[in-house]
Parts: sequence; C-alpha cells; structure tokens
Amino acid sequence: MPRSLHDLTYDQLREVLVSAGLRPAHTGTLWNTLHFRAMADPLAREDLAPPLRKWLTQVLTDGNWMLDVPPISLDTPSSDGLTHKYLLRMADAQEIETVIMGYTGRHTACISTQAGCAMGCVFCATGQMGFVRHLRPGEIVAQVLHAQRCVRAKGEKGLRNLVFMGMGEPLHNYDSVMTALDIICDTRGLNIGPSKISVSTVGVVPGILRMAAENRPYNLAVSLHAATEEERAKLIPANQRWPLTDLMAACRSYNAQTGRRIFFAWTLIDGVNDTPEHAKRIAELLHGLDAHINLIPLNRTDGYSGEESTSTAADAFHRILQDAGFPCTIRQRRGIDVAAGCGQLKALKNRRKAAA
Ligand code: SAH
Ligand code: SF4
Repeated sequence: MPRSLHDLTYDQLREVLVSAGLRPAHTGTLWNTLHFRAMADPLAREDLAPPLRKWLTQVLTDGNWMLDVPPISLDTPSSDGLTHKYLLRMADAQEIETVIMGYTGRHTACISTQAGCAMGCVFCATGQMGFVRHLRPGEIVAQVLHAQRCVRAKGEKGLRNLVFMGMGEPLHNYDSVMTALDIICDTRGLNIGPSKISVSTVGVVPGILRMAAENRPYNLAVSLHAATEEERAKLIPANQRWPLTDLMAACRSYNAQTGRRIFFAWTLIDGVNDTPEHAKRIAELLHGLDAHINLIPLNRTDGYSGEESTSTAADAFHRILQDAGFPCTIRQRRGIDVAAGCGQLKALKNRRKAAA
C-alpha cells in the first residue's frame, strides 16, 4: 500500500519534498493545494511549478504515494435536507460514515476515527458492529476535506465546526487523531479553530490524561450515561477497564491542569437512567467540576431494545441539573430519519461483515 500525502503534517511534507530534491518552498504550494484549496486533484492546479508537478505526477503513478480522496458510495440527505450522511470508501474498500449537519449560518461535520469500535456500548450501532480497524490521519483529514468541499459548493466560505463523534473511539486511536487534528488546525490549510472542535470519549482514562499533559486545546466531551460503577458497566463494557472512579479522577485532573470545562454526555434511556434520582446522582458525582451536561435522547438501534425518554422525563431531568447549578442542554436531534444520529452510524457493508 502506498503512503498517503494526506497523512503528513506540514513539517513531514517538507521533509519528504526536500529529501526528493525539491526546494522547501514547494511545501507551501502543495499544502495550500491539498488543505487550503482542498483540491481533490492537486495536478489540476495549473500554476504548479514544473519540478513539483513532475515529482507529484511520478510518485502518484509509480505507487509510492497516494492521496486520500475517498469516493462517495452513498449520500443520504435527511428529509429536511439539512443533514447529509455520507458513506465514504477508503482505499482498501472499507466504508466509513461522515455526517454534515447544516444549522443557520454554519455547518458542523461529524467525523469518524475508526471503522467500527472496540468499546461495545450496548446502545450504540457502531459498538454493536465491533472493531474493524483504526483510521489513519489522512483518512480522518479526508472526511474534513470532503465536508469542506460540500460546504463550499453551497457557496459558503468554509467549514467551522467539527465534532469527533462519528464511528469509533477517538482516544483509542490517539496518535492518528492528534496528528489529524494538527493538520486540520494548521492555519495555512483548513485552519479550523481548536475551540470549534470537540473530541468525544467514552472515558479512555490514559487518553484524557495525555490530552491534559499535552495541553491539547480542543473541547473534551466525556460520555457518562450512568453515575454508579454498576449501572455504567451494564451500558459501557469499557467501564470495567476504566472504572468511573478513575474516570472522575482523570476529569478532575484535566479540569485542574488545563482550566478547561468538560462536556459530559448523557444518553437518556427510558426507565434506565432518566429518573430524578439519576439526575441527583450526577449532580453529586460532578460536584465541584467545571462541567457542562449534554442530554441526548436515545436514538433507536437494531441491537438494543431500550427506548428514548419521554419529553416530560427529559425536561424534569434537565431542570434538576440546572437547579443544581450545571449548565445543561438537551441536544437537538438531527438526521434520525436516515440513521445519521448519535450512535446510529454503521455502514451496511460492515454490518454484513460483522454478521458473517
Ligand atoms: N466513542 C466516542 C465518540 C462517538 S459516540 C464516545 O462514545 O463518546 C458519540 C456520542 O453518541 C456519545 O456520547 C455516545 O454515547 C452517543 N451515543 C451512542 N449511541 C447512541 C444512541 N443510540 N443514541 C444516542 N446517543 C448515542
Ligand atoms: Fe464506541 Fe462511542 Fe459507540 Fe461506545 S458510544 S461503542 S465508545 S462509538
């Protein structure tokens, strides 16, 4: 398999070009073509300097290097046309999903970090399919570039918001995700502001501690869903590996080290974790933390029989947390009719593979 030019940070790209005998100045041109202009075919740029064009043509044809420009296998718009779920085909034919949500005046892209997921959360379609493989940095960047092209095709200046809440557990693929983020935030390229990016984790404790130690400037979202070890372990098998007690200690240390707020996600499941007692337990658990709580009504998946909370239960839950002093929001549901909502992402091909 050739290496991908989209896997490289600016400095890595410069090293590759220089060791091929090209001038370092060509790095800026190629970077601008790939990441600022987001061109799917860099050779289509007419003003490439002849030595750069010659090298690029050669390495792309001799199979030493490739580009991550995944073809779209499927584009499913939601009935209101505001959300699109794209099935993108990777070079090894693996398919992954990227979702673009349009709000008034801005778009948010929901990015996948793995094909499948090893964490096995019972209510999540990606968890239900199991782990297939990690995505490379270039495959993560490629989803953002795809979203950038879509947003620009609508006549908008560019994509501004990203959530790493698609298929997979970002902190289980830490190095590739952080390299992809370095590329995505590079001001000479896609230039997406770190404060506009959220990384969501099921609670991979070493990853949270590493983000704090490395002072990664992204928003951290932690999927909580239960406030006792026993209840959490039933929903999230990964709680056995990283128990709630350790997770909370990591969150407190993240808060203290970075001064950054943590966004906790709580999927509301009827009769399972949506009673007033549950809300009070969250308030105790998160006491003293700089925390925002996002309540997500459960989206239905094939492999889980639980149902979403009633709006009365959700509203009461919301009120208790607000009264306890926590900023708290109920997440707007998007793309449910095309299974592009939280936890509904699962490529059809993968489903067949998992069933085989
Ligand atoms: N692996 C990461 C990020 C991807 S999941 C994580 O778990 O945080 C993104 C969010 O969707 C998480 O908060 C997850 O708990 C939530 N989610 C998963 N399945 C869901 C479902 N069926 N309904 C609603 N939210 C779900
Ligand atoms: Fe993986 Fe997140 Fe789904 Fe859990 S909720 S299985 S961690 S993608």
